[in-house]
Amino acid sequence: MARVTVIEHPLVQHNLTRLRDKRTGPQEFRRVMSEVAALIIYEATRSFAVQHLAVTTPLARASGAQLKREVILVPVLRAGLGMLDSILQLIPHARVGFIGLKREEKSLRALFYHKSLPRDLSQFEVILIDPMLATGGSAVSAMELLTELGAKHVRLVNLVAAPEGIRHVHAYYPGLPIFTAAIDRKLNRHGYIVPGLGDAGDRLFGV
Ligand code: URA
Repeated sequence: MARVTVIEHPLVQHNLTRLRDKRTGPQEFRRVMSEVAALIIYEATRSFAVQHLAVTTPLARASGAQLKREVILVPVLRAGLGMLDSILQLIPHARVGFIGLKREEKSLRALFYHKSLPRDLSQFEVILIDPMLATGGSAVSAMELLTELGAKHVRLVNLVAAPEGIRHVHAYYPGLPIFTAAIDRKLNRHGYIVPGLGDAGDRLFGV
């Protein structure tokens, strides 16, 4: 699928399999999700724009590079929190915004219950973090908000995506790059990804 990168690195697939396993309890689930997030972000940030500059080492001048734009991580609550810490370890200067979205049980529509973001995102590299791309409703609502705030450089990071979710997101935002560890078979009638890994928030927090 265009604009979708599936990260097939063996460490990512090894960890994803542990996350899928229903015997993996919350403590291990949190640790493994954190590990896999770091590996995914490594790939997802590969195309970040840089500007070239020169520095002086103790021995000589060297050409180097620095990130062109400020970075903001935007985890979608709750499950996005499971990927946040390890990404922050890799990009410690990043800012963090939050989006709280819940799914209406019957319609599966995404409703905001929390937003905290800078007013102008036009100069940021925005990493939208939502581990499960299911119907795509939350990602589209999140993208509407980010776009209203001027975001121009957004990438979506997932753990598992459903084909339906990818299609939905790309119907509204065809240019949005998506990075995921897997594209699964389908959604069930409750909007869960099959085979997926269950409810990522519940498995992270043990409720
Ligand atoms: N959210 C989850 O946590 N899991 C799914 O399978 C779908 C949405």
